[in-house]
Amino acid sequence: AWSSSKPPLLRFLHTCYADFLPEAAGAVADYIPELGKADPAHFGISLATLDGHVYEVGDTKVPFTIQSMSKPFVFALALDTLGAERVESVIGVEPSGDPFNSIRLNAENHPFNAMVNAGAIACSGLLHADKGDGAFEFIRQALGRFAGRELDVDEAVYASESATGDRNRAIGYLLRTNSVITENVPAVLDVYFRQCSILVTARDTAVMAATLANRGINPLTEEQVVTPYAIARTLSVMTSSGMYDYAGEWIYRVGIPAKSGVGGGILAALPARLGLGSYSPKLDKHGNSVRGIKVCETLSAHYDLHMLNRS
Ligand code: GLN
Repeated sequence: AWSSSKPPLLRFLHTCYADFLPEAAGAVADYIPELGKADPAHFGISLATLDGHVYEVGDTKVPFTIQSMSKPFVFALALDTLGAERVESVIGVEPSGDPFNSIRLNAENHPFNAMVNAGAIACSGLLHADKGDGAFEFIRQALGRFAGRELDVDEAVYASESATGDRNRAIGYLLRTNSVITENVPAVLDVYFRQCSILVTARDTAVMAATLANRGINPLTEEQVVTPYAIARTLSVMTSSGMYDYAGEWIYRVGIPAKSGVGGGILAALPARLGLGSYSPKLDKHGNSVRGIKVCETLSAHYDLHMLNRS
């Protein structure tokens, strides 16, 4: 039992952990074969506040691949590196209402937004056009600044996704025939597959989310990683599209900008308040972590965190 000397927030996270540990619903993603090896029992919750406190419960040090949670960070980097005009000329900011891997483009033959695969591949393409062969290293180092430590790649997951990623390749070619990307498609996909294979922990993702919530300043290192301008745009797209075809439901029920990944992570960033990172690899039909959703719903309700219910 938890003694009352524990901070109330930590006690609350322990209650969440215990309540949702028995949750059995969902399935580990296996369309990327290597992801199927994840331990479905793993469950970690971490919360970082903007004054630099990090609270952790459960498997918060277990590494897993960032997958689609890389998308908001790479979008923010693209905005700062290439300028909003360039990015907006080829990537929309409208929710798609489609699953993350949809091949459908908008009426202009552009990706709907940067949170679905098509938009994220377009972002990787923009950075590749600017940085050439250095694009992935540029992304890896920047994501490390969001996390406050150097991040590595899971080579096995990278190889597994690269070997089976034909749908994303098809999206890449579709983007090129519509001049959204002008680069060599395999080179762009290589950047995208590698960025999705970056290893993080629940703790890392809480700090990364807290950096989003803190106008781009990492609350632990105090480094300004991207501009407040890029952060506001990124949080906007996370709000409308971060949870794919569950995004409307999510913002209605939880009310915190968030992003999920098929590795089992969810990160949520409440501006001027906190960053949350959760890890539990069993996913629902939208590709969102089942336990992660429950943690966010419960936290939001308990602390009255809905972003449209502020005083
Ligand atoms: N790398 C995964 C893919 O492109 C990312 C998807 C996700 O996390 N939703 O399919």
